[in-house]
Amino acid sequence: MLGADLTVPVSSGELVPYANLDYAASAPCLRPVRDAIDAALPAYSSVHRGAGYASQLTTQRYEQARHSVRAFAGAREDDAVIFTRNTTDAMNLLSGALPPYTTVVVFETEHHAALLPWQRGHRVVRLAAPRSPAEAVAAARQALSTGPVGSRLLAVTAASNVTGELWPIAELARVAHEAGARIVVDAAQLAPHRPLEIAALDLDYVAFSGHKLYAPFGAGVLIGRPDWLSAAEPYLYGGGASRNVTSDVEWHEDPEQRHEAGTPNVLGALALAAACDALTATGWDSLIAEEERLLARLRTGLAEIPGVRELTLWDEQPRVGIVSFVVDGWTAREVAEKLSSDHAIGVRDGKFCAHPFVRHLLGAPDTDPATEPGGSGCGTAGTATAIRASFGVGTQEEHIDRLLLALHQIATTTPA
Ligand code: PMP
Repeated sequence: MLGADLTVPVSSGELVPYANLDYAASAPCLRPVRDAIDAALPAYSSVHRGAGYASQLTTQRYEQARHSVRAFAGAREDDAVIFTRNTTDAMNLLSGALPPYTTVVVFETEHHAALLPWQRGHRVVRLAAPRSPAEAVAAARQALSTGPVGSRLLAVTAASNVTGELWPIAELARVAHEAGARIVVDAAQLAPHRPLEIAALDLDYVAFSGHKLYAPFGAGVLIGRPDWLSAAEPYLYGGGASRNVTSDVEWHEDPEQRHEAGTPNVLGALALAAACDALTATGWDSLIAEEERLLARLRTGLAEIPGVRELTLWDEQPRVGIVSFVVDGWTAREVAEKLSSDHAIGVRDGKFCAHPFVRHLLGAPDTDPATEPGGSGCGTAGTATAIRASFGVGTQEEHIDRLLLALHQIATTTPA
């Protein structure tokens, strides 16, 4: 189902099939996604504006994409489905749409996309990494039921981009609602691996990105309750968001139009929707069964390599195909470079835009520098860094075995 295979040179001079184990950063494009883009390219035009055939067709495809995403996410009929650039953009949009001075409760385990956007004018309560899912629920309940009266929001990941662990979002939604609060779920890493059930789990808002869901870059989505979104200032001021402009401006009440000013990334939205449809058509049962088989093989194999330590918050927790680890005597960058140059294996190293969480898992002080001047901001420098292997559709057992063999070789030598 993947679009293409890649063969790359390694240090021995050989050409080797590339083992992409960096899906959690951006997953490769699925064949049906490429086909959907190809089908749209010959006749695209502006959406919601033109009377011409191409414009009508493109508008129809764009709105159909919204339907596909809504169905994929198990959203309520009246939920807004707003196309954004990515998850970070979606979280920032929501932050701007919250009632002023909302109390936002977050765990320090969040990706920065769900940790930081609330700094724009809200009161942020940051909770320590919980020792168990039950402790997470108890800590959220406590934090949401104390403090000033007013709007409250719990922002939490559904699947960690560092450990792959699944968070108890159904229980967290329940305690949020019992406290009169709302919940936003960062589903960037859940959406590619497990079905999303917004209505069934009673989630208020959900965000995810196309490029982690087997579509190319540039489109994400914010899905959720329309009331705050319809009342908020438009995310961007400009054409499309405004219904009537005289000396004053009337904004669209429809949250989708209100927050999608300017010409949208139509191909990105179509690609994202095509990925949703392709995953649904393949069927979650087979996807999950294969992922769990490979994940068990990887985790068991890692545990057998002396000097390799997996980073995990809750040992027994079910998880998606994302595993972070460290290798004694080696920096994460050295391991990642060697895996690439000698074995044609692509992994990620650093703090994965989750600095507080990675430091917590490594027992590192809060002062460890995350970046050097010119660094990525997602933390490849400093000593408190890890290696992350992540995978999904199209990953083969051979990729996992190659990684384990390479790590065995690395762990039993010292860096040059
Ligand atoms: N949340 C999680 C859990 C992620 O893994 C990522 C991407 N690493 C993001 C949010 C941000 O996604 P994007 O870069 O597409 O905005």
